[in-house]
Amino acid sequence: MKRGDTACKTCGKQVPCVVSKKRKGFCHDCWMKWQRQQNENRYPYHEIRSEADLLAAAYVTAPWIYRVLPISLPAVFVEKRLRDQYKDFKSKLGPRERVWPFHFNQWSLAMRKGFLVVKEGKPERAWVTELS
Ligand SMILES: [Zn+2]
Repeated sequence: MKRGDTACKTCGKQVPCVVSKKRKGFCHDCWMKWQRQQNENRYPYHEIRSEADLLAAAYVTAPWIYRVLPISLPAVFVEKRLRDQYKDFKSKLGPRERVWPFHFNQWSLAMRKGFLVVKEGKPERAWVTELS
C-alpha cells in the first residue's frame, strides 16, 4: 500500500487518496456502479408495451406536486413544446382536465417526455413530445 492510498470501501482495492475523496471512498469501478444504482433508484425503468403502460408510467413519474395539488401545467409551457399540435391539444381538452408534464426512462433508449391529461385523478391520454 502506497502512502496516501486508501482501500475502496466496497471491494478493498487500493485507490489514491485524491481519487477516493472525490468518489466518496469508492474505487472507480465501484463508484460507477454506485452511481448507476442511485440513478436506477431515483428513476426506475418503466417498460412500455401499451398505451395503458404509457399512461401509468406518465402518471407515476409526473412531479409529485401535481399528484398532491389540483394544479395544471401553465398553458404557455404546453404551447411552447407542442407548437403546431397545440391547437389540436387544446380543442380536445375538457373543462375539468388537467395537464401534467412527465419525463421517464431518461437514462435509457426508451425515454419518453410529454404531457399527460388527467381528469379527476385518472390519466386520460398522453401526448409524447420527445422519445429516444
Ligand atoms: Zn471498489
